[in-house]
Amino acid sequence: MKIEDPSRTKFVRVWKQLDVNEVKKHMLYVDDLYGTCGNCKRLGLNYLKDKTCPECNTTFKYMATNSKNPADVAKLLTRIEKENIQLIMIDREDFERSNASDAAKNLFKN
Ligand SMILES: [Zn+2]
Repeated sequence: MKIEDPSRTKFVRVWKQLDVNEVKKHMLYVDDLYGTCGNCKRLGLNYLKDKTCPECNTTFKYMATNSKNPADVAKLLTRIEKENIQLIMIDREDFERSNASDAAKNLFKN
């Protein structure tokens, strides 16, 4: 997305309906510089370089971080913006909650 005046932009969390299983398949979990594939759990990926997983070949579309510190999250977002990396940051707690509610639903189905 082309931003007209970068000095006026801020990070704002947006709520969106997503297919949780789809997100899980294309998720890259990032801590500092290193990432873990959400699909096959391969460790040691570089979110600035690895657009796909060398192990399972999944394409990364989303990222989430373990850090709950907004400054760390902002640092990651600034970095991917600067490097023009097309990853969408997912709030990990939101994501885990949506996963958990799926699991609960499955339990009630039985
Ligand atoms: Zn993988």
